[in-house]
Amino acid sequence: MLLAKAGIRVPIKLTIPLISLLVFPACLFAQQTNPPAQETPPSGGAQVPGQAPASAPLPDHPQPAEAAKKPPVHRFWDETNCWLFAGVLGARYLDFASTLNARRRGLNEVLLNNEVVDNHAEFAAIEFGGTITSVGVSYLFHRTGHHSLERWTSIIHIGVTTFGAVRNFCLKTPHPATEP
Ligand SMILES: [Zn+2]
Repeated sequence: MLLAKAGIRVPIKLTIPLISLLVFPACLFAQQTNPPAQETPPSGGAQVPGQAPASAPLPDHPQPAEAAKKPPVHRFWDETNCWLFAGVLGARYLDFASTLNARRRGLNEVLLNNEVVDNHAEFAAIEFGGTITSVGVSYLFHRTGHHSLERWTSIIHIGVTTFGAVRNFCLKTPHPATEP
């Protein structure tokens, strides 16, 4: 979050790492839900020698119409999205940590307000909500077939949030004028 000058000291509590436990299991779960290996269908029964297998099914030949029905669309929780969402969560954590760091150095929150930011649980919930919203927007793009925008949502989110966090860390600490 954006910060400016002021003078309140706040103890730091890092609550964000806990929320990462909520997102990563989804990725792990998604990796385990790969379609199971195709079971070879049972052969059409023992063939009697000399009998023509005209009525036997042909399981080894895929139906061309069935293959044409399914375009190659990636799963939403594929590896790329899992990495991008982890990146969004990491960027949000950087924003959380940099904001609390700046507050400890006496800077004021501008985008939200100091009361919200100083309530670490509430601030962590806001950061996590931003991550969930980003994933939700990506999902809407995925469902509507905009797979490039789906990826860019996370990429832009990571870029903007990381830039803000670096800016927070780079803000100068205000020092009161000291008597000589
Ligand atoms: Zn997609």
